[in-house]
Amino acid sequence: MNKLRMDEVDVRGKRVLMRVDFNVPMNEAGDITDDTRIRAALPSVDYLIAQGAKVILASHLGRPKGKVNAKYSLTPVAQRLSELLERPVAMAKDCVGEEVRQQAHRLRDGEVLLLENLRFHTEEEANDQEFARGLANLAELFVNDAFGTAHRAHASTAGVAAYIPAVAGFLMSREVDVMGRALANPERPFVAVIGGAKVSDKIDVIRSLISKVDTLIVGGGMANTFLRAQGFDVGRSLCESDKTDLAGELLELAKENTVRFLLPEDVVVAKAFDNDAPSKVVPVSGIEADDQALDIGPASVAVFAGALREAQTVIWNGPMGVFEMPSFAGGTREIAKAVAECAGVSIVGGGDSVAAVEMMGLASAMTHISTGGGASLEFLEGKVLPGVEALQER
Ligand code: ADP
Ligand code: MG
Repeated sequence: MNKLRMDEVDVRGKRVLMRVDFNVPMNEAGDITDDTRIRAALPSVDYLIAQGAKVILASHLGRPKGKVNAKYSLTPVAQRLSELLERPVAMAKDCVGEEVRQQAHRLRDGEVLLLENLRFHTEEEANDQEFARGLANLAELFVNDAFGTAHRAHASTAGVAAYIPAVAGFLMSREVDVMGRALANPERPFVAVIGGAKVSDKIDVIRSLISKVDTLIVGGGMANTFLRAQGFDVGRSLCESDKTDLAGELLELAKENTVRFLLPEDVVVAKAFDNDAPSKVVPVSGIEADDQALDIGPASVAVFAGALREAQTVIWNGPMGVFEMPSFAGGTREIAKAVAECAGVSIVGGGDSVAAVEMMGLASAMTHISTGGGASLEFLEGKVLPGVEALQER
């Protein structure tokens, strides 16, 4: 990555504002139900503490829509972070303003302050310059470690960088490095697996990957639109009829680029979108008018897994079927295993794909699990992410 990382600048004794992603799921009682994101930030936070920086953490939580709402307070996160760090974490009443500024300026080396939810202010998402300046006034250095929001130009991801030097945290840096290298200089064969519900969500990423990969595998609900473009009847399966022309164009584009484009040969069909509905495997030419294709079949798995086994770089975004229902999770599980077994670099992005890989206990077998669903998609589309763009060049 050509962006400065926080261990390449002097942080000792400095007030460092670090944008993190503490947008954790909580239950009605306000208990954190999954602290993965807090744990993920620990290496960066620990580093700053060990270096004797004064650590000021900022995050959003949920969608409070610009209003103070106790339900979205980061106070429970401060408690959990404090347990994990085994040291006190002070909680600020707000994220900007004179009182918070004074609190930040009173911090001693190695102390940690968590700011209150950035999105209690509409100015955050509006990237308001005064608000960004208010954040910058808290600190001498800005570190962005929240890749998941890097595709948005908000005050705490982009705006603040206009006022104080901005560098990458370890998580951010790893995301951009691993995915950047895979796109710019991949070990080949380079195979992308794209799935999920809709073609329309992933047109841009497919288009961008066609110019880079050796093999493109398309499964999941979106495969139906491509099958339809090839003239197959997909019955009552999820299919975007208004996107069949586009799917045809993408198939043509793959041909022009001599990219191997793999679609399912067989699918698991049922008459209802229901885990308990009787299901069977049929070739894609055998889908009946009242069938719904809800997973890829074993012949497809064999072909896809074969391509994945030979790959030196794999990018996977989107499940192969309705993996939330055990009856239709088989294709996704087998593909997850094949990706995990691939000897090269394996990258998984996309909220549902990551959830599937975690559910199957295969996360640790992947080279990289992207923390940012939307952000990783935009990165793979080849877009410039404002939160990355704002960081200082090396
Ligand atoms: P990601 O979050 O990994 O980018 P998407 O959000 O694009 O993935 O798609 C995930 C959703 O696609 C899941 O909810 C899954 O049930 C659905 N899906 C996958 N295959 C099918 C299918 N054949 N029919 C209907 N829905 C599907
Ligand atoms: Mg999703």
